[in-house]
Amino acid sequence: TGNSSTHEFQAEVKQVLDIVIHSLYTDREIFIRELVSNAADALEKMRLTQLTEKEVYGAELPLEIHITTDEAAGTLTIADHGIGMTRTELVENLGTIAHSGSKAFAAALKNAGKSNEASLIGQFGVGFYSAFMVADEVRVHTHSWRMEGEPLVWTSTGAGTYSIEDSAEEVRGSRIVIKLKEDALEFCRPDRVKSVLGKYSNFVGFPIQLNGERVNTVEAIWLKSKDEVTEEQYKAFYQFTAHAFDEPSYRLHFQADAPLVINALLFLPDQNMEAFGMGQMEPAVGLYCKKVLIDPHPKKLLPEWMRFVRGVIDSEDLPLNISRESMQDSALVRKLGEVVAKRLLKFLDKEAQDDAKKFQEFYAKFSRFFKEGVATDYLNRDAIAKLLRFESSLTEKGEVIGLADYVSRMKEDQKAIYYQVAPSRNTIESGPYVEAFKSKGYEVLYLYESIDEYVVNSLREFDGKPLQAVNSNEVDLGDLANEGEALNEAETQMLCDWLKGRLASGVEDVRSGKRLVSSPALAITPDGEMTPQMRQMMRVMKP
Ligand code: ADP
Ligand code: MG
Repeated sequence: TGNSSTHEFQAEVKQVLDIVIHSLYTDREIFIRELVSNAADALEKMRLTQLTEKEVYGAELPLEIHITTDEAAGTLTIADHGIGMTRTELVENLGTIAHSGSKAFAAALKNAGKSNEASLIGQFGVGFYSAFMVADEVRVHTHSWRMEGEPLVWTSTGAGTYSIEDSAEEVRGSRIVIKLKEDALEFCRPDRVKSVLGKYSNFVGFPIQLNGERVNTVEAIWLKSKDEVTEEQYKAFYQFTAHAFDEPSYRLHFQADAPLVINALLFLPDQNMEAFGMGQMEPAVGLYCKKVLIDPHPKKLLPEWMRFVRGVIDSEDLPLNISRESMQDSALVRKLGEVVAKRLLKFLDKEAQDDAKKFQEFYAKFSRFFKEGVATDYLNRDAIAKLLRFESSLTEKGEVIGLADYVSRMKEDQKAIYYQVAPSRNTIESGPYVEAFKSKGYEVLYLYESIDEYVVNSLREFDGKPLQAVNSNEVDLGDLANEGEALNEAETQMLCDWLKGRLASGVEDVRSGKRLVSSPALAITPDGEMTPQMRQMMRVMKP
């Protein structure tokens, strides 16, 4: 072969590979799952490409995965007739982590100690690079679906560099040959490979052959009834289809006949991937019609804030030939998304009531999404609001309550739901604002995040009760039982005038009021003015 070039792996990839090669991670068989999932992705992309492109290289090739073991040579080969890769794509996809499942792993590495590295592989996975846990050398023969593509072979031992050369194999797709390490030769035994495949191969939407024999029956577990699916199958399905390594926190599997025929299987993850500096997640609840995938990442199906939800929505009411473009503005798809979103919110509310502690742990990781939901998802605002959780003047530090709990213990004469936005419990409790509320026996919600201000502003009320900031001008607490000597009216006016003179342009007005019990004064926000928290947020956001 004439044309050969050597490339350095991107620095992050080198670091990931170094750990993958040297760590004593015990669950090495997952590399098969990763490579099969890549093959399935490539085939799925091919299927969708064929719907729109007229010119496809090797158009006649079947969309299948072929796995072969060779005990004599000590190799395992995983081949697909998927989209393949061009030279540029090889460099981009297998030389950097820009497009790789190991992104979260690399991000988490930055914060983790040395001793945790192996367990991180188990938590996040390393995608394609997991092959190097078992390989002395990996070769990827590939040809892109594009007519101008060329047969190439990518080769690496995982040590710093890889090479790309011309190949003689002019077949569309990718064929990955793993030269197994001495201590990983189990993976060229057919029975061993078969047992690994057994765990998830039925979720792959394409035929898989192991040494020429079919191993999977394509199975849509979301169309089955709940008692036909085991916990293990649910978990394997989630991990395989969502490319996830965690165990889902919640699972909702339901069938409905009205207003639309729906078979849905949804998972809420345990790990919030956006928290690892990965940027915004793509929506990943696949849209199916009678088992046929219409769009793996439909943007207009569920509300955007639900992008952390994983799973499948299948509806036989969708026209099978609906294209992804027309799907975007299909009223039917919107309706479908609405029904499922409602159902999911109802489910979560019930779960939160049945096991408050579990929900709190989940909420602690995903609260950002729910807050975004309240601010952006007008249709579901009230249902999402039920799921919000806050500390309050009546909770212990670290303990949270929902707005429904709050309302259920409101005092008879209490007019509003009160809250204070401040960075910490300590700031609030050492400040002057809550004392009057406490003396009336009114609970005050403690909101610690600056986006909470947006949340309460979008919500405005809950269960018919207005939400009011403790430092708002609108708060009316009626009469407080003040002890001690009061100033008379003239004295009060003199004090106010004097203070106003001293504070000059710093305040709009100085007035006497009825909101304090033991502190002498407090600042409140005039009507129509930005709150201090808002102003601070604007300052932070300024470039
Ligand atoms: P992920 O699958 O999460 O994107 P991986 O590390 O598993 O991350 O794979 C990196 C990228 O390499 C994929 O996004 C894909 O573009 C490319 N790739 C891997 N395997 C194949 C394959 N069999 N066919 C085509 N492209 C592939
Ligand atoms: Mg992958």
